[in-house]
Amino acid sequence: MYDAVAEGLRIHAYPGDEREAVTTALARAGLRPPERFLLRYPHELSGGQRQRVVIAGALVLEPELLVADEPVASLDASVRGEILALLLRLRAELGLSALVVTHDLGLAWNIADRVAVMYLGRIVETGSVEDVLRAPRHPYTQALLSVLPEAPGDPVVLTGEPPDPSRIPPGCRFHARCPVLATGEAERAGVATACRTEDLPVLSGTAEAQVACHWAQVASR
Ligand code: SF4
Repeated sequence: MYDAVAEGLRIHAYPGDEREAVTTALARAGLRPPERFLLRYPHELSGGQRQRVVIAGALVLEPELLVADEPVASLDASVRGEILALLLRLRAELGLSALVVTHDLGLAWNIADRVAVMYLGRIVETGSVEDVLRAPRHPYTQALLSVLPEAPGDPVVLTGEPPDPSRIPPGCRFHARCPVLATGEAERAGVATACRTEDLPVLSGTAEAQVACHWAQVASR
């Protein structure tokens, strides 16, 4: 495990004490005493311990931002909570920001302050967890939330597949599958042509709630 955690230090030609940095990162990731883990191989660790080693490898460079791509997707339910609690504790103790990529809206609801929903490589809606998950404005976000077990009303089942990312369609990227366009609601709001022909701007990085949808923008006026 030592080499796995030290790799980032070596790539960045870390000038300090490598062993001390590795043991500190392992301890921060909850592997204590860290010396016990230095010479272990991956097959000697549990799934949760392996995930902690990966987190230690990220922490060892003392980052300001931690990017975690599906950090608990492969873990047992019993270990998921431990790893999420660790991420939240590190965020508070080290003053980190954490960008968590997930398909699990329940996870986003439980750990995030802000949410950004992506479709075909673009953020289509962003804002606080409360704004986006309690009152979604983009038809794609609405469809995602409608299929959760506790969601009120009928689930919105999207038809078709996401388009080929190398052949982005004109207009709104979601228009071929959008229920608001398919049911005529966009037509009644006077935006159907824009849906099919006018690309939407890339959302800015500001903190306020934003949505990339011609119909939602008209509806919120
Ligand atoms: S812009 Fe039009 S097609 Fe795209 S999500 Fe909004 S209503 Fe649907």
